[in-house]
Amino acid sequence: MLTRCLFCHRDLPANEALEQFPVGRRVAYDPARGRLWAVCPSCRRWNLAPIEERWEALEELEKTVKDRARLLSQTDNIALLRTPELEIVRVGHANLTEEAWWRYGIELVRRRRMYQILTAAGIAATVGLLAGGAAAGAGVVGGWWGMTQLGRQLPKLGRTLKFGRTAWRGHAVCERCGGELTRIPFKDRGALVAAPGADQSLGLHLRCMACERATGNIVTSSMRVARAERWIGPGDGRRGRRSARRALGAAPLPPPREGSGFLITGVEAEHVLRRVLAYQNFAGGKESQVRDATNLIQQAGSAPSLAHSLALPGRRLASIDATSAIALEIAVNEDRERRLLELELTALEEQWREEEEIAAIVDNELTWLPGGVARAFNR
Ligand SMILES: [Zn+2]
Ligand SMILES: [Zn+2]
Repeated sequence: MLTRCLFCHRDLPANEALEQFPVGRRVAYDPARGRLWAVCPSCRRWNLAPIEERWEALEELEKTVKDRARLLSQTDNIALLRTPELEIVRVGHANLTEEAWWRYGIELVRRRRMYQILTAAGIAATVGLLAGGAAAGAGVVGGWWGMTQLGRQLPKLGRTLKFGRTAWRGHAVCERCGGELTRIPFKDRGALVAAPGADQSLGLHLRCMACERATGNIVTSSMRVARAERWIGPGDGRRGRRSARRALGAAPLPPPREGSGFLITGVEAEHVLRRVLAYQNFAGGKESQVRDATNLIQQAGSAPSLAHSLALPGRRLASIDATSAIALEIAVNEDRERRLLELELTALEEQWREEEEIAAIVDNELTWLPGGVARAFNR
């Protein structure tokens, strides 16, 4: 039974997912050649399981892959799959459809669970306060008010701790008036306009308030809407005002003055967009919502084309609905995830070739037919 890595001698982590092979969080197997490995998390080498321990485990793995695993990505030779507890490298082509949503979508589902835990913790803390308040003779109504408020504040605080208050720091210049922009706070994120470039790249545009003010006639409405067009993030209550702000946020603004405003492009824009969307979608999504979001991506054809269709010229992020915001976050991250996975798969495939060579030698020695031992000694 494998318990330690044969190469670096560190302990291999246990798993509770496989009854027949309870070792390794990442396992690799080849159902056709009957190979089974536990991948060492420290040195990344593949530890070949003793041959007598393999057969039932291989059956169990095939069943797990068929019933519960999600295909992350595959090449002609190997597939990378995931269950909640395990990462599985399966040699050979897996007859499973790749579910693109799973790759990044799982992050949003996980985030939702985290958010629920934070909210529950907030409410629990307030129940404590409420009990204390009641003992001190405070009104129950006040306690109830405090409970809902604090329950909401904790996730919001968690979000600020994680992201800070600033979405972007840098330097952009308004070509029209020469005004400078060095920072975009998260609270102004809804005013950003995604500006698709010709080469499939995304840019972000922000109005220049100095230029807008100079036009006089739209100053009041645009300032009012600029305040309103902040996305309302999780934990921000006051429903009536929220929907009013939403309606305002979605209202069309007069076009910006010709040539005015700040433009962020390239990798920087992609980074800001990812950050802003992660902030906006801090509460995550239900699996069904993530599915709806990925349907949007599928309808659009690909992640970049969804980003482009959502980012119609002049469309502020504030006017994008919740599911589309999730779709946009998946879309902008999907592409990156896919590129990273492709790199990982290439590396895995190389490693598999090496490990398979060794496994073929080891297995032949172990399963040599009579006369084989002599041949092994004579080599
Ligand atoms: Zn190791
Ligand atoms: Zn300007």
